[in-house]
Amino acid sequence: MTEKRYVRAACPHDCPDTCAIRVTVEDGVAVRVQGDPDHPPTHGALCTKVARYPERTYHPERLLHPLRRIGPKGRGRFERVGWDEALEEIAARLAMLAARDPEAILPYSYAGTMGLVQGDSMSARLFHRLGASLLDRTICASAGAAALDAIYGNRVGMHV
Ligand code: SF4
Repeated sequence: MTEKRYVRAACPHDCPDTCAIRVTVEDGVAVRVQGDPDHPPTHGALCTKVARYPERTYHPERLLHPLRRIGPKGRGRFERVGWDEALEEIAARLAMLAARDPEAILPYSYAGTMGLVQGDSMSARLFHRLGASLLDRTICASAGAAALDAIYGNRVGMHV
């Protein structure tokens, strides 16, 4: 018999609406992620990105190991490589670029799910150490902030 339970959670992303989440877990596996119907601001709705977490997590084509492109860009041809090999190759290429012109490196990354490692800590140190170009890392957040400025005149929080 299937054991089914609901787990209450909060979205790990940084939208001002901070959606409350209800996860349906069957036999230890999250099978559905939906908004918490008891959460007044969202009434059980989640954005498409987060509502499809289980589908993405368990998708058979989810990328689970490093791949190296073989052949021209756009052809979609890749070969599987090990983590050590991938990391060594990436490090060698970054070192080569940094030796030539570190500002040729564009640090395009942000906070992922806002964890301490992802959230502008280790990646920022790495890119600063390399001497990479400076970039406003909050590309999507900056767009949201500009929208709040334009609509509300300031960023004092979301009007629920
Ligand atoms: S809109 Fe989406 S990303 Fe933003 S808090 Fe809600 S579920 Fe999370």
